[in-house]
Amino acid sequence: MEFSDTSKVVGPLLARQLYMMAKEYDNVVDFTIGDPDIPTDAAICQAACDAAMTGHTRYSANAGIPELKDAISKRINETRGTDYTANNIVTTIGATEALFIAFMALLNKGDEVIVLAPYWIQYENMTKFFGGKAIIIDKFTKGFEPDIQAIRDAISPKTKIIVINSPNNPSGYIYDDGFLKAIADIANEFGLFIFDDECYDALTYEQEFPSIARYCDKEHLVLFNSFSKAFAMTGWRVGYLAADEEVVTNTIKMHQNIAICASVPSQYAALEALRHADTYSVRVREIFTRRRNVLVEELSKIPHIHFVPPAGTFYAFIDISETGMDSRTFTFSLLKEEQVAVIPGIAYGNAFDGYIRLAFTMNENLIVEGISRFGRFINRLFESK
Ligand code: PLP
Repeated sequence: MEFSDTSKVVGPLLARQLYMMAKEYDNVVDFTIGDPDIPTDAAICQAACDAAMTGHTRYSANAGIPELKDAISKRINETRGTDYTANNIVTTIGATEALFIAFMALLNKGDEVIVLAPYWIQYENMTKFFGGKAIIIDKFTKGFEPDIQAIRDAISPKTKIIVINSPNNPSGYIYDDGFLKAIADIANEFGLFIFDDECYDALTYEQEFPSIARYCDKEHLVLFNSFSKAFAMTGWRVGYLAADEEVVTNTIKMHQNIAICASVPSQYAALEALRHADTYSVRVREIFTRRRNVLVEELSKIPHIHFVPPAGTFYAFIDISETGMDSRTFTFSLLKEEQVAVIPGIAYGNAFDGYIRLAFTMNENLIVEGISRFGRFINRLFESK
């Protein structure tokens, strides 16, 4: 059987492979994929059941039920000072599909996409699916803030999109206003699209979350978001994009052919989530704040590793370069020896082979147990040196 060239441009996702490997161990502490153990709030589940029981079991309009699009646009406007309406929204099967249809609608063969590292690998994979080339920026000024000059230098006549993700998966870094303004200026100056993935906007710890939507001209911005993380709704598969009407019209053409519409009971669940967004997402944030603090405290006790406490998301990105091991070898040894599953940093860009990522999506006792095993592993490594 000969598979398509497109099927060959990407391999299986490393993160998913590790997640499957972790399942083979009985007593594993699994810090692999970003899937919170928290159940979706009962009232959100009830809204989906009610929708299904009252006949909302058929296709909706392609871009989603009007009430949900309306609620999404209002929520963005309240929090980002924008002026979107329901006509600027496409509801999708998670932010993953929103990103997919946006890349599909915009990229031509040979187009370049600037991706700020460390980065969610799907940006690069999707770019490749549509014949584009990802240009990775992994030069930093402070923390994980990419060097603006390096971004400017990477722009060519083929550049079409800059992808940013803040709060960032995997680093937990939040870009500040100055950086976001500089990126928006670049997009406006060169007529580029900003793909702004804000999936972790509700999970911030020590600082407010600034959005580039405040600075970027509307016709240059495609904003992506999801119900997965903020409302512990990964399995419901609802996300969206917000953009000007031309982008909306063109992405809907893709969406019609891939999905028709997002799951309708899930859209009603998402509507309920937004109606009481502050109550539901604050609960999720409180849980993750406690977990993050425990994680930071426990990690701080371990010698020879370095990390910046995550400002947002539920990930910690840990520098393990002192061990001298590459991130894959480290990860596989840690899993085998201590049954602690993490993701190798190489999954987030070639510059991060001295890192691992931990998703702290489990309760505090398990976090303490997992980090204590991780510490034991590190200590053993250095005792034998
Ligand atoms: N963007 C980022 C940065 C992510 O980490 C994820 C999921 O882990 C997504 C998008 C996709 O989220 P979903 O498709 O569940 O909405």
